[in-house]
Amino acid sequence: MYQTFIGLEVHIHLLTKTKVFCGCRSAFGDEPNTNICPVCMGYPGVMPALNIEAMRMGCLVARALNCRIPEKTWFERKQYFYPDMPKNYQISQFASPLGQEGWVNIEGNGISRKVRIRECHLEEDAGKMIHAGTVSLLDYNRAGVSLLGIVTEPDMESGEEAELFVQQLRRIVRYLGVCDGNMEEGSLRADANVSINLAGKGLGKKVELKNLNSSRFIKLGLNYEIKRQSALLDSGKTIVQETRLWNENRDETAPMRTKENAQDYRYFPEPDLLVFVPDGEFLRSVEAGLVELPLPRAARLKVEYHLNDEQSGLICEEKAVADYYENAVSAACKLGLERKDAASRIANRLLSDIKHILSRDKIDLADIGSIKLSPRRLAEFTVLIANGTASNKNAKQTLEAVFAEDKDPALIIKERGWEQINDPAVILEAVNKVWKEEAKTAADARAAIEAGNQKKLKSLTAYLVGKTLASTGGRAAPEIVGRQIEELLYEGRK
Ligand code: ADP
Ligand code: ZN
Repeated sequence: MYQTFIGLEVHIHLLTKTKVFCGCRSAFGDEPNTNICPVCMGYPGVMPALNIEAMRMGCLVARALNCRIPEKTWFERKQYFYPDMPKNYQISQFASPLGQEGWVNIEGNGISRKVRIRECHLEEDAGKMIHAGTVSLLDYNRAGVSLLGIVTEPDMESGEEAELFVQQLRRIVRYLGVCDGNMEEGSLRADANVSINLAGKGLGKKVELKNLNSSRFIKLGLNYEIKRQSALLDSGKTIVQETRLWNENRDETAPMRTKENAQDYRYFPEPDLLVFVPDGEFLRSVEAGLVELPLPRAARLKVEYHLNDEQSGLICEEKAVADYYENAVSAACKLGLERKDAASRIANRLLSDIKHILSRDKIDLADIGSIKLSPRRLAEFTVLIANGTASNKNAKQTLEAVFAEDKDPALIIKERGWEQINDPAVILEAVNKVWKEEAKTAADARAAIEAGNQKKLKSLTAYLVGKTLASTGGRAAPEIVGRQIEELLYEGRK
């Protein structure tokens, strides 16, 4: 009977080398107060200058979110006091932000929704206050770092949808290469606004949730709020418009401050910066940065490579992985493998052995493009398995050796003597030997055939096949071993 409205304000750090209005280095984790200058420290009389790269990255996100870039965009001063903001105002955008009226579809986990984007605005971040015992320390390295604010309309209806939105936005900005999306380091931060009301009555009184530094907390915090607000309305009480904090230790939200009316920031145009008029060349450079985004790419891969939802989703999680996959399949096709076969073999290998090795060696998936097992080497390896040159038994060890020794798979297989044995005469020798050594099992298996005991026959056969494979160090082609053992079992019967 209640309707829920959720709108998010996400802030992302743009990966510009320098800050948005000065030449200071923009980096996380540097020695405190080493990346500062009179401009970002807010000394009187200094002049900011716009970092065009920040404007380009901001517009790139805006375009990826289907926003309109206005003919003119400019900056305003947003006045408020905060100890970590030395100027006592923040340069932000208000009347004509760089991206306006867009939308993005979110899909997955049974959710499918179009979320309208109200705006994307470029601004400067504040510094960082660190509370240490009885003193508070200030680190201004972050003051002036390029920040893009992305504001949605209140179109989402559950914590799960908001979580999915943030996860998807994170993937998009990483695909675009404009933000690392690291929520723990604060490169991507979200505030969530939520209200509930009787269905059909429109928006309710909103509560703003802060301190949501993981997409899971966004879900938990919002769902907690929806329950809390529903209970209040159920018992005839009203909801107070306020800002609340998510307490991750107690799994609940608690009031931070009431926010009856919109704060008066006394916005006025920043007099020290020019109005920015995106010209044709600038707009072309923005469009040139647009890449195929995660959702459409996953949909394309699914069809083009006959993958299932899970496979295409996992592969498209990171752009580098999707690129790696497509390059490997294309290289395998050039080596003569049939496309559908290559696509399926490489997807399976990538999502099992290769992922395991990467996580064991703590290699970030985003760095898959520079591993020793290049797409070409994976393609070569896949062909060796497919044509029976290499046995599947040593597949993972082969890949590990390629990683460790930086050699082609064919060379590794040759050096280790891991070529598959495909010669029926050689395999028959091994089979005959095991057949003699395991005479009792062989006799039992024949008896099982007589008795029509399929289950017993199957397990005894598997035992004999396993023994034979082991006796060849796993190198005999398993299909040939299986066939030869079967022939021995049924010898003289047919
Ligand atoms: P404010 O000016 O108080 O910050 P805005 O209207 O600018 O509020 O909206 C800020 C964010 O809050 C947006 O993401 C918007 O979608 C969301 N929002 C606004 N009103 C509501 C509401 N009643 N319920 C839920 N979300 C809301
Ligand atoms: Zn500076």
